[in-house]
Amino acid sequence: MAVLVTGGLGYIGSHTCVELMNSGNEVIVVDNLYNCKKSSYDRIKALVGKDFKFYECDIRDAEGMSAIFEKESIDSVIHFAGLKAVGESVEKPLEYFDNNVNGTLVLLDVMRKHGCKKIVFSSSATVYGMNNISPLTENMEVGGVTNPYGRTKYMIECILKDLYVSDESWSICLLRYFNPIGAHKSGTMGEDPNGIPNNLMPYITQVAIGKREHLNVFGDDYDTHDGTGVRDYIHVVDLALGHLKAVKKVEAEKGLFIYNLGTGTGYSVLDVVKAFEKASGQSVPYVIAPRRAGDIATCYSDPSKALNELDWKAERGIDEMCEDSWRWQSQNPNGYPD
Ligand code: NAD
Ligand code: UDP
Repeated sequence: MAVLVTGGLGYIGSHTCVELMNSGNEVIVVDNLYNCKKSSYDRIKALVGKDFKFYECDIRDAEGMSAIFEKESIDSVIHFAGLKAVGESVEKPLEYFDNNVNGTLVLLDVMRKHGCKKIVFSSSATVYGMNNISPLTENMEVGGVTNPYGRTKYMIECILKDLYVSDESWSICLLRYFNPIGAHKSGTMGEDPNGIPNNLMPYITQVAIGKREHLNVFGDDYDTHDGTGVRDYIHVVDLALGHLKAVKKVEAEKGLFIYNLGTGTGYSVLDVVKAFEKASGQSVPYVIAPRRAGDIATCYSDPSKALNELDWKAERGIDEMCEDSWRWQSQNPNGYPD
């Protein structure tokens, strides 16, 4: 029996596929190649040293997805596929709701029709909204989200909760990621954003490699230890390993489970810049810029529920995250080959 990984050639999906296969799971990937390169598939294969099935298919294509479920023996699904750029979601809300929410509805319907009722879903700390105070715990109220991307994650959480209420034979795990950074140790897999990066770490690595002149630090007047925004950065391999535990959980037990995947430690923008400079030996010039709309001062997890119930905790610290991000960037200045 296999684990179907939607969006499995993307940043988090590719690292998760490697860890799944390294621990003996059969993996089948579905990706429409919208935000990744096909060469990510070759890199995954090279790392695990074996072949695995990849279907180029959009999760909104009910017929295509049904054909995959008919042909393959799929036990559970890890659902990464989705659009994820906050700013773009404000410009293109219909595309975001269609891809993320409608795509998930199509996937769930196909799963149900094929009797596959185990799913791990990529949610986000963004569902905690603007008003909860860190450390964030899973029982806090969610939903005060400020942009269409965040709303898609919140809406999908609601859909999955309602689905479980209607049919308790489902096994559903919502994983709320904090800020994934870092890359595979080999330097062959990492984050490969299109165009100007929105997120902090890929922007820093592109400044370090000379692609961008300087980092804009969005605000230095927040109520934090140095005035810059504080986040819970988590190594993508730790995040990937959290998915292995979540898959085990949905395979073993019926229920609706929710876990934060974070380290529990917050670092400011300037902390990350310093850690990166130390790890890479490169300097990262920056200028203080106005606050970015919708940003909050501080966001970090309480990760104890995942430790208690999944026996998972993040093991890799900020220095290792920075070293690995830099290795990926410096060995692949232009990201994945076409
Ligand atoms: P990514 O863009 O690198 O990977 C997503 C993959 O899904 C891409 O390969 C893309 O081609 C594919 N995809 C998108 N729409 C699809 C569709 N309709 N059908 C088939 N494939 C499709 O993103 P990522 O950083 O790996 O994120 C994975 C998931 O985790 C996303 O759902 C994202 O919203 C969520 N998430 C990411 C972060 C983060 O900071 N990276 C934080 C919280 C949650
Ligand atoms: N940030 C920044 N400059 C950038 C990108 C991000 O100062 O070019 C800050 C941002 O304001 C936030 C932190 O870095 O405080 C993390 O931002 P990111 O977009 O990576 O993740 P978010 O937590 O906003 O999803």
